Amino acid sequence: MDIDVTGIPLYDILTTPHGGRSAFAHEKIPKGSPVLHCSAPYASVIFWKFRREVCAWCFAYAFESGKRKWNIKLGEDHRGAGGAWFCSEGCREACIRENEIFEGQGIGWWLEINGAFERLVAQMGKSGKQDRKPTGRSTPAGALAYLEDTTIKDLTPEYVDRAWGLAEEVAAEESSHERKTKWTEVLNELEIDTARFVLDGLVRKAVEDINPTFSILDRVTDAPGYCMGAGRWSNLLELQDNEVALELSKPYMLASSIRVYRFLRHLATSLSKQAVRSSPHIQETSPLIYLADQLRTSLATSSAARSLMGRDHGNTFGIWDMVSDDKGSEMLGWGAYVFGSYF
Ligand SMILES: [Zn+2]
Repeated sequence: MDIDVTGIPLYDILTTPHGGRSAFAHEKIPKGSPVLHCSAPYASVIFWKFRREVCAWCFAYAFESGKRKWNIKLGEDHRGAGGAWFCSEGCREACIRENEIFEGQGIGWWLEINGAFERLVAQMGKSGKQDRKPTGRSTPAGALAYLEDTTIKDLTPEYVDRAWGLAEEVAAEESSHERKTKWTEVLNELEIDTARFVLDGLVRKAVEDINPTFSILDRVTDAPGYCMGAGRWSNLLELQDNEVALELSKPYMLASSIRVYRFLRHLATSLSKQAVRSSPHIQETSPLIYLADQLRTSLATSSAARSLMGRDHGNTFGIWDMVSDDKGSEMLGWGAYVFGSYF
């Protein structure tokens, strides 16, 4: 594994008799001993309504510091600008430092991607009709409408693969359609948050592909005990894929996951157009052009998005406020802390 670690692990990751893998202690570990410190999730999402209240870097919750929201900001302060909020200048600087993929070029690309996402969400359902089901036969997505009625007995691996194959064809047609620039289908709150989570993972994967020495992947803290970074795409893929198990318990998740995939592919296409508009000279190597290209490549098939969604279920951790349990804490988002998933 090409990942920096500090400290010595108190456990091994071993195959369990009932399948999958788990953490097994070397010896009796005293209560309260730190066993693993993960510096960052590979992919995460903070719920939209908390975006001004939760630090985009360290996830500190403003409410616990007696504040209604954080006021250190990156980006323009208007809707659709893709801004991010921080608890301190230190966190804002760390975010810029750790996300700058080309030295000295800043992280405007990150704000552009977030902004494009926000604008697509704001645009949803503004076509006049609440377009939840892709039923219109005249639209390419009409071919996917049957998935909304999927039942448990339909859910064979062949049915799922055929549905995804069709989704890729539909998404290709949608993104090649010259006139179609708007996304009108309404995603529910969970789908929007899932799309953010998947986008975060795909961005991290893209950054890893562009710049394999990117520090956040291996960044470890100097916390006591065994420390790991966010990990890499290959580490994420080692986690158990629960796609089919999730769909068998909730058959509607197949149509839902496909909607998230098509939405992200539409986003990647609009980002590419936007990147070219803002940098008309092909030779110009703007980080956004690189990122948009990488995202389009990642989404040209459904494989990477499916990998993330299949591992989201059963492997991710809630990001909670730190209020003691008896007062009832609130979940602020979720994240895939790859190396923590074996516990
Ligand atoms: Zn912070």
